[in-house]
Amino acid sequence: MKVVLATHNPHKIAEFQQILAMTRPDLEVVGYDGPEPVEDGVTFAENALLKARAAAAHTGLAAMADDSGICVDVLGGSPGIFSAYWAGQKKDAQANLDLLLDQLADIADPHRAAQFVSTIALVTPEGTEHTVAGVWPGRLAREAAGGGGFGYDPIFIPDGQDGPERSVGEFSDEEKQSQSHRARAFQALIPLLQVL
Ligand code: IMP
Repeated sequence: MKVVLATHNPHKIAEFQQILAMTRPDLEVVGYDGPEPVEDGVTFAENALLKARAAAAHTGLAAMADDSGICVDVLGGSPGIFSAYWAGQKKDAQANLDLLLDQLADIADPHRAAQFVSTIALVTPEGTEHTVAGVWPGRLAREAAGGGGFGYDPIFIPDGQDGPERSVGEFSDEEKQSQSHRARAFQALIPLLQVL
């Protein structure tokens, strides 16, 4: 089956390819270079659907899109859908991360709970629509560590680690892709891909 992946984010494309290679190597995933919709939804699911619908309509293929972000408990779930733009419309990953650390500077470890969330939408050209979500619980570090991954990875410490705790920025690609929010959402999507 051929599926178009409706994202221009090179990090997400690479991650999806790695997750797919581990789970559905038979799927042929093609990139998307068509028009992108305005992401004016107010939930991850709405924004993922907007992106997948646009790609399905433009290509005539089944389309997958992910909308994701980091949700911090003490901030009431923000940055959430605003994760890419938390420090302004420039979409500056370093500025976003610095601002979040600054905002939580006085908050002690037990109150720094956060989660990465990914919602994946699957839309067929006939108009069938599905959304699935994956959550990766953890907490915010006090300072950035590691150069791997992208976005908020250097300041996110997932729960349930064996041995000394590390940020996702210190994880190998394989480690991240086997347990991330995106991988968890994708696991939920697999049965839906089979019925297509
Ligand atoms: P989107 O591309 O509109 O879904 O924005 C997602 C934003 O959430 C990214 O720009 C990152 O700031 C953040 N984000 C989502 N997934 C990850 C991840 O796996 N690691 C680090 N940051 C992420």
